[in-house]
Amino acid sequence: MRVILLGPAGSGKGTQADLIQKNYGFPKISTGDLLRKAVQEGTELGKKVHQEMKAGKLVADDIVLELVKERISAPDCRTGYVLDGFPRNLNQALLLEKIENHRLETVFEILITEEEILRRLSGRRVCLQCGAVYNINNNKPKVDGVCDICGSPLVIREDDKPEVIKERFRIYVETTKPLVEHYSRKKVLFQVDGQNSVEVIFKAIKSIIDRRISGAQGVSN
Ligand SMILES: [Zn+2]
Repeated sequence: MRVILLGPAGSGKGTQADLIQKNYGFPKISTGDLLRKAVQEGTELGKKVHQEMKAGKLVADDIVLELVKERISAPDCRTGYVLDGFPRNLNQALLLEKIENHRLETVFEILITEEEILRRLSGRRVCLQCGAVYNINNNKPKVDGVCDICGSPLVIREDDKPEVIKERFRIYVETTKPLVEHYSRKKVLFQVDGQNSVEVIFKAIKSIIDRRISGAQGVSN
């Protein structure tokens, strides 16, 4: 099974991917990790990636696809895998289906409002000294604005400022809409309520995956 998670930054999609990996043994594949690894290993592809990244460009879809193709053909992906942060647009989704079209596919769209994303992310405070992360909503430091670990002042990261969060959310909605329509037409899209707790969301995801696995036995994986 190929599990795809769609959700904006702050929706908890990475956490759900981790839980799926733990529960089903499906490796979590993040394109960010694949790109970094290719650069580190200095492969031909890695050199191309490095050039594009250095130029501040988004890495081209065909390069990303090449890395994904290699990764999903590894033995540990035989029964399934979960994609985190991929496909990012309709073109990537179509290319993915071209290189591997026999997998049973299950796509989760984590639904969450902009207000909730703002509430979660704008509450984040980080310590630049030691890297500790706090949240004034649910993981406060003992003293306001001061790191528990090293006593340094806490700051709001540039990425967590409301204008930045709103712009990122807008771009997410815009690029994800065609993907949602595509998967909905294929009848492999399942929506889950991202306002819920991590446990409740995972319960919903798990029941759908279980149902899909038992329904597909003997057909294909
Ligand atoms: Zn600190």
